Amino acid sequence: MSKPRLTVLAGPTAVGKGTVSTYIRDNYPDVWLSVSATTRPPRPGEVHGIHYFFVSPEEFDALVADGQLLEWAVVHGRNRYGTLRSTVQEAMDEGRCVLLEIDLQGARQVKETMPEANFVFLAPPTWEELVRRLIGRGTESTEEQQHRLETAKLELAAEPEFDHTVVNDSVEHAADELVSLMGLRPLQR
Ligand code: 5GP
Repeated sequence: MSKPRLTVLAGPTAVGKGTVSTYIRDNYPDVWLSVSATTRPPRPGEVHGIHYFFVSPEEFDALVADGQLLEWAVVHGRNRYGTLRSTVQEAMDEGRCVLLEIDLQGARQVKETMPEANFVFLAPPTWEELVRRLIGRGTESTEEQQHRLETAKLELAAEPEFDHTVVNDSVEHAADELVSLMGLRPLQR
């Protein structure tokens, strides 16, 4: 088993980063999944402190001004999302396997400050599958879907910036491969 270190999971919109990280949170207690701060309002079923820390724009401004964010970005031209530096540092100091599930802009910022981290790109099996997932999710308007597809094209081109690629052909497979890259043993099924 290799030494625990920070792992950053990024990838294009709708590739299933959230699904893979939720699966890991539910099945791999040895992984410490960072909870981000966001100015986005909660979706039904989302819980403050578990899925995100839902904060006001003013509270987010204060986190930025106080230097409390390891990275942050405006995602999809709308809401702000950021990783809380102190909680990540504490988990790393405790020797935990830390996982950040963030967007590409955030991953690039972490690469600037922590180049020794493990950068994992979550890729769709095919472009057609990514489009199907984005449309099928049905949570965004047609205009928003088009905007996200444009973003996804740019995001896919960033794959060579990463140390590893995991193809999200099934959530279990992608999660197992990711935890293996984190130096943990995948679940025995
Ligand atoms: P959603 O609003 O669907 O939960 O997330 C939208 C996007 O924000 C996803 O691509 C997710 O990876 C990204 N995201 C979530 N938390 C963070 C964060 O702390 N920093 C950055 N840069 N992106 C984040």
